[in-house]
Amino acid sequence: MSPAGASPVHGDLLYEGKAKRVFASDRVDRVVVEFKNDATAFNAQKKAQLDDKGRLNCQISARLFELLEAKGIPSHYVGLVSDTWMVVQRVEIIPLEVVLRNVATGSLCRQTPIEEGTAIEPALLDLYYKDDSLGDPLLTEARVKLLGLVDDTQMTAIEGLARRINAVLVPFFADLDLQLVDFKLELGFNADGQLLLADEISPDTCRFWDRRSSDAQDRILDKDRFRKDLGGVMKAYGEVLKRVQSACPEPRKSL
Ligand code: UDP
Repeated sequence: MSPAGASPVHGDLLYEGKAKRVFASDRVDRVVVEFKNDATAFNAQKKAQLDDKGRLNCQISARLFELLEAKGIPSHYVGLVSDTWMVVQRVEIIPLEVVLRNVATGSLCRQTPIEEGTAIEPALLDLYYKDDSLGDPLLTEARVKLLGLVDDTQMTAIEGLARRINAVLVPFFADLDLQLVDFKLELGFNADGQLLLADEISPDTCRFWDRRSSDAQDRILDKDRFRKDLGGVMKAYGEVLKRVQSACPEPRKSL
């Protein structure tokens, strides 16, 4: 086993994204993901290094993938190698960002007259085209079809999976006094054509409001602290991990 945070044995760098690096592994059907400390917002116009972010997001994601797996929701997650490294199934990522909104905030409130904090029931599912050069634009189902990103059957499966994930995560976080306001998912297909949850689920990709605080700024425990220069970004991520850990103590190690 690798020591905490140490780089495990891995092959070539296959891909480097804004928050993660993806390396080949000793198996063609698996890759190794390193969670980085780089923080970006507003399509990478705002950048910073946040010490410990990689570990916190990796540790939170691993536990959430295991929680979802226990509820029958398949993901790319195989196991952890160290504090910041995760083994996952190799998938072809669908170029869609699937956003689930339980409470109105962020771009929904900038683009519509819906008031900040309005409960959305059932959750709103928004699709964005995963393309930084275009600024990840909001899509319609007709545009998804026009672009040929997925067929109708795949779209139905994606929406079903996203809503099942939301149905597991909302009560899980509510029990930890965290309101899951909204979150972004990425999905992919493995070599067998199975649809899997991929990427990460962390305070980088979710909005969490602390039910133990009534202050509109203090309650924010996610990347909005970075986006809005509120300070205490890693303290907030650490608080999310602490609560997740209280329910899911130890994620498994990858062989
Ligand atoms: N999100 C993300 N990556 C993106 C855009 C959004 O992880 O590139 C997440 C974001 O953290 C939030 C949800 O998706 O939890 C909805 O974000 P929104 O569309 O409101 O975007 P923003 O207000 O950040 O522009």
